[in-house]
Order: sequence, then C-alpha cells, then structure tokens
Amino acid sequence: MKILLVEDNPALRSSVKKGLTENGYDVLAAGSLEQARGYDAGETLDLVLLDLGLPDGDGLTYLKDLRHRQPTLPILLLTARDSLNDKVAGLDAGADDYLVKPFDFQELLARVRSQQRRLSTTPAGQVQVLRVGGLTIDLLRRQVERDGREIECTAREYDVLVYLAQTPGSVVSRDRLATDVWKVKSRMTSMDNVIDVLISRLRDKVDGPGQSKLIHTVRGLGFMMGETAP
Ligand code: CA
Repeated sequence: MKILLVEDNPALRSSVKKGLTENGYDVLAAGSLEQARGYDAGETLDLVLLDLGLPDGDGLTYLKDLRHRQPTLPILLLTARDSLNDKVAGLDAGADDYLVKPFDFQELLARVRSQQRRLSTTPAGQVQVLRVGGLTIDLLRRQVERDGREIECTAREYDVLVYLAQTPGSVVSRDRLATDVWKVKSRMTSMDNVIDVLISRLRDKVDGPGQSKLIHTVRGLGFMMGETAP
C-alpha cells in the first residue's frame, strides 16, 4: 500500500514516515505541493496524508485538484486548524477524514486502516473497488477510471474488465471468458473473434496514449491484466 505524505514540518514528516514504514506501508514523503504533484503524477497511490498549511500554497487547493483527478483516492487531512469551519471546508473539498495536530501516531494508523477498509470492502465484506496500476473500478457505482480519466464502457466491456481485474497477474483463457462472462455453455470458435474484438476495444479505452499497457495478450493462452507484461 503506497501512501503519499505531504507535510512541510521536517520532524513530523520524518517521524510519520518512519512509523508508517515500520508498519509495512510504502511512503512517499513530500515537503511541498510541488513535490506532491511530482509524486501523484508518476505513482499509483492508495492514500494521501495531506497537511493544509504548506510553503508553496494551500493544501485545500491541491486537495480539490487531486480529488477531481482521482475521485476514489482516500485523502486524509493532517491539520493544525482545529476550527469547525476548516474541517467542513476540508471535507467539502473532498477529504475523506482529518486528524487535528498534534495527533497520536496510533490514532493515525487506525484512521489509515479505516480508509483502507472503507475502500476495499463494503459493509457486507465484499470488494468494492478494484485497482490495477492506475486503473480503478468502482463496483458500486460501476465507474471505471484510469489515472483520473473516466472510461466509458459498455455493459459487456465492463464485465470483462472486472473479470480480468479480479485476478491481476493471472492468465484468463477465452474459454473462461466465454463461460463466465458470456455465459455460453460450450465455447464455439466464433466466440474467439467476438472476445478478441471486445478486448481490443477495451484496450483502446483503458490504455490511453502514452500510458503503459494494462491488458496483455498471452499467446495461445488468453489475456492477463497487470502493470507488467507476462
Ligand atoms: Ca504545515
């Protein structure tokens, strides 16, 4: 799980980074908005911890911008501003939660875990959001995005995408797609063409210009979704 920490206080930044790293998180630490933008453009983030008072701008502006680009990314504010107005402004701007400084590290950990749970499961314990690389599939809203770009899918394309994204890194055969997505009892050869055309359309939508490929063809076997080619 990759966390972007944006905090200009060097002591707080390094102690939070150290604590999170010790708890198994992968932390990118930024001391300014400029650094934060550098990280959020190039990395697939799972959570952002954001200070509001930063040397090169207001964290709220950045928050709005980030929320616009990555609607499902959990963003937790770290703020010294303890007034109700600031909390409301932060939540209105798209933050998922906030912690008022000084905070207890265990409290921070608990909030981070709670964001993780919120995003990965529904109350019934089912997966709610699938992520592969920069691709996000919100299963409740049936929304697909890649790095903040919304992807319009037909119902069938969506079903295939979800099917592949459920097992990233594993090969899915045309047989399985035919049986599980198209619900055909025994696959006919003509299905191969249908599947291949759909995969090709999906690939055009998912892998935008200049973006890495997420849907791979595994020759003779089928397809695989993942950040790296098989
Ligand atoms: Ca600050």
